[in-house]
Amino acid sequence: MPEAPQNSEQLTDYNLAEKNQKTLQFIEDVTANADEVQKTVLAEILSQNANVEYLQRHGLNGHTDRESFKKLMPVIKYEDIQPDINRIANGDTSPILCSSAISEFLTSSGTSGGERKLMPTIEEELERRSLLYSLLMPVMSQFVPGLEKGKGMYFLFIKSEAKTPGGLLARPVLTSYYKSSHFKERPYDPYTNYTSPNETILCSDSYQSMYSQLLCGLCQNKEVLRVGAVFASGFIRAIRFLEKHWALLCKDIRTGTLNPQITDPSVREAVMKILKPDPNLADFIEGVCSKNIWQGIITKLWPNTKYVDVIVTGTMSQYIPTLDYYSNDLPLVCTMYASSECYFGVNLDPLCKPSEVSYTLIPSMCYYEFLPVQRNNGVTDSLPAPKSLSEKEQQELVDLVDVKLGQEYELIVTTYSGLYRYRVGDVLRVAGFKNKVPQCNFICRKNVVLSIDSDKTDEVELQNAMKNAVNHLVPFDATVTEYTSYADTSTIPGHYVLFWELNLKGSTPIPPSVFEDCSLAIEESFNSVYRQGRVSDKSIGPLEIKIVEPGTFDKLMDYAISLGASINQYKTPRCVKFAPVLELLNSRIVSSYFSPKCPKWVPGHKQWNKPELNEV
Ligand code: AMP
Repeated sequence: MPEAPQNSEQLTDYNLAEKNQKTLQFIEDVTANADEVQKTVLAEILSQNANVEYLQRHGLNGHTDRESFKKLMPVIKYEDIQPDINRIANGDTSPILCSSAISEFLTSSGTSGGERKLMPTIEEELERRSLLYSLLMPVMSQFVPGLEKGKGMYFLFIKSEAKTPGGLLARPVLTSYYKSSHFKERPYDPYTNYTSPNETILCSDSYQSMYSQLLCGLCQNKEVLRVGAVFASGFIRAIRFLEKHWALLCKDIRTGTLNPQITDPSVREAVMKILKPDPNLADFIEGVCSKNIWQGIITKLWPNTKYVDVIVTGTMSQYIPTLDYYSNDLPLVCTMYASSECYFGVNLDPLCKPSEVSYTLIPSMCYYEFLPVQRNNGVTDSLPAPKSLSEKEQQELVDLVDVKLGQEYELIVTTYSGLYRYRVGDVLRVAGFKNKVPQCNFICRKNVVLSIDSDKTDEVELQNAMKNAVNHLVPFDATVTEYTSYADTSTIPGHYVLFWELNLKGSTPIPPSVFEDCSLAIEESFNSVYRQGRVSDKSIGPLEIKIVEPGTFDKLMDYAISLGASINQYKTPRCVKFAPVLELLNSRIVSSYFSPKCPKWVPGHKQWNKPELNEV
């Protein structure tokens, strides 16, 4: 297998160029020898784990070849290995899925039974993740030279973590990465030179973390050459924060003293190393922000910014207009495609349009297989939940180098940390090839109808939430005859909107508080990622119910039919995105109601928390 690029210590201009070259050569090599690399990856995974219970259960018996693997191992989804995962979570340290010790669980934003999925991981995976990160800037430097001469202003955050009953940590993959020595103790590298000191990123209080990161970003505004966050939604929240708090930030910059609300001693110490009284800079920022015109704010306050580094593929594409507005159309760059299960790919043409982004899957990360899918281009762009595959379908799985241009596939991976033929749930389209390796557009996540931030709400969850909500209408002899939903990102943070058409049989008018209770009941029914977004991350705003005039959904059907939908097969879409449909719905609003408070949420899984804790 081609050798991964190594980290070198002191980087001069010359050896930076050499290091970049080595990295690009690594990409050349792994993509050119993709099939051999994949074969080696599979053999390594299977031989390292030959003794694990899961492989023995399926009779693999030490075989490490593709044929035996494909013949004997089933294609699975999370629920198939949940009993094994629960055993690990409860403290069983025997080799169940992986022979290496499980170091922690990564909590995916994908959920099962309303709770985050738990992905077991092992120490060495951190190296693989670091490797993928190390590919990004050498690729970028081919398109935007000179990035080593300045800094990146990235808004990076950690999320809460919990312990499983067996004592393993459970936390999101990025929290795990930022807290690891790979991030905290990274050797000096001009490409990981950020305006945010580590302490500000590692602060668990979201206000203190955001405030101090913005303050440090403003203090070093001239040095900033690129800005970003992981997802577009996070970056927009940071700009929104600036809109609200610029006066306070300016005061700190003018006086060189730090807002007393920043109480974390390590954050204070780190910020004070950067913050110096700078009345000129304060005047400049105040001059810009006090105009209250936020268009192009990025280029105004950080004038040397070359691009905005955020993921805007998949559901995040809904934020492109807002980002364009704030950045005066700077390039939006999506650099990588990754998940809690494994990190997958990099964008080798980072300045391309967001709609054309494709990710080159790096063959040394895991063993990839692809299940062909046929998508009927529905209103929601989503697919039904994955069902178990028949024997025949399992045989249809295609290897990395055998995928066809233009075809859509569901991604299936076998990882070093113990997932075998695991359905990630993402649908990709092959848009081209880098040597032997497909470059894939991210199409959608299976079965997701609504998403604002990292939340992913599916149709079944929405349906169940609706059932719980409409109970509140029973005393008024009212029913919801039709409904649909929409992820409204025109507010910051964005929020879910439900359009309801009612059938009112009773004569008592329904007070607003009842609809507010309905909104809250829906939020209470959603999965823990949604509720965490509302409560802890504040990345999702209160859910809104909009009551529409009687007959609105008939009009919606008429409209769909006028566009060619079959009258016999017409079903109300449970989520709408198409602008004319939204216009139609919004033109017939009778009243609207917001959820009056946050739903309940506590860190960790429901079953790990004592009942009293759930009541908090
Ligand atoms: P998580 O398991 O919470 O880390 O979320 C991983 C999921 O986020 C992936 O399976 C994708 O559905 C989505 N995702 C990650 N990277 C991208 C990307 N570059 N574009 C679109 N969706 C992405």
